Amino acid sequence: MNQRLQKLQAWMKENGIEVSFITSSENVFYLSGFFSNPHERLLALAVFQEEEPFLVCPGMEVHDVKSSGWNQEIIGYSDIDNPWELVHTSINKRLNRVQKVAIEKEHMNVERYEQLSVLFPGAVFVSAEEKLRKLRMIKDAKELKIIEEACALADYAIEVGCSEIKEGRTELEVLNAVEYALKQKGVTEMSFSTMVLTGANAASPHGNPGSTKIQKGDLVLFDLGVVVDRYCSDITRTVAFGDINDKQKEIYDTVLNGQLAAVAASKPGVSAAEVDLTARRIIADAGYGEYFPHRLGHGLGISVHEYPSMTETNQLVIEEGMVYTIEPGIYVPGVAGVRIEDDIYITADGAKVLTKFPKELQIIR
Ligand code: MN
Ligand code: MN
Repeated sequence: MNQRLQKLQAWMKENGIEVSFITSSENVFYLSGFFSNPHERLLALAVFQEEEPFLVCPGMEVHDVKSSGWNQEIIGYSDIDNPWELVHTSINKRLNRVQKVAIEKEHMNVERYEQLSVLFPGAVFVSAEEKLRKLRMIKDAKELKIIEEACALADYAIEVGCSEIKEGRTELEVLNAVEYALKQKGVTEMSFSTMVLTGANAASPHGNPGSTKIQKGDLVLFDLGVVVDRYCSDITRTVAFGDINDKQKEIYDTVLNGQLAAVAASKPGVSAAEVDLTARRIIADAGYGEYFPHRLGHGLGISVHEYPSMTETNQLVIEEGMVYTIEPGIYVPGVAGVRIEDDIYITADGAKVLTKFPKELQIIR
């Protein structure tokens, strides 16, 4: 039994939970080592306090589960089987009566919840999500190494992006060149849809790249991430194409000062709120408080957004082993958008910055 499952089982014992029925691809992967996107089909990991866990998956994936290293029971079902009947039989072999079941309430849909309610009549359903988020929040050495690789590829992507900026190129043309270069390096998946936004378009924190042409005097914003062995990186850099005006420069410098201060403030023992506020105060003092409308950052791992959530109200204490982003931004509608985002790892001494592309303003000629 792996350590992650043991930690979940210890939590189940403490809380009197007889079964955890885990259905999100990310948490099934975290606990079992097997990743699959089953679409509408059922993928589930059933964990018990003492009895052997089992993994339910589409029959065509049984071989993949075995080669992933999962060496406990696997229940494969065909497209004409009812997987819930197989689940029922397997649980009945282990337990007669179940009173408390942990599920991922944010992930579970109503149809499945109804199936489980029939399997466990009268049982109380509690959430497994908070516990799993806390377990996933602290990365081990192996996870860190993979995230570092994903970050190195993200740095490379920004480098390619900068070299592809030319007068009259569209956002999509540059984006395409970046992703092409990554595929040449063997990358099969991005953490999310890559963003290349130029000029006033970058003033939308979640803008969509399109046919806007890059012009001299624009600030160009790249936000992207690379998936390596199921772990995500996430980087943002904003660069100048030719000379920019004093206002753009002031916005850039303000974001950079806030970003650097928040990285420096990140260490074990401080709260997420303190780290957020370190950057937020610098931006507010420069007169741009209302133009920084989102949290400072987020945890990063198997999901591109996970714990800790770096908000100005989150009193969660930063601990060694956390990986999170620091990404303040200033977005002045119709004028410019600047965001600078690093992924950091918390050591006993403070932040180790995993994304290494330079942050001093890069001017592309
Ligand atoms: Mn991010
Ligand atoms: Mn990002």
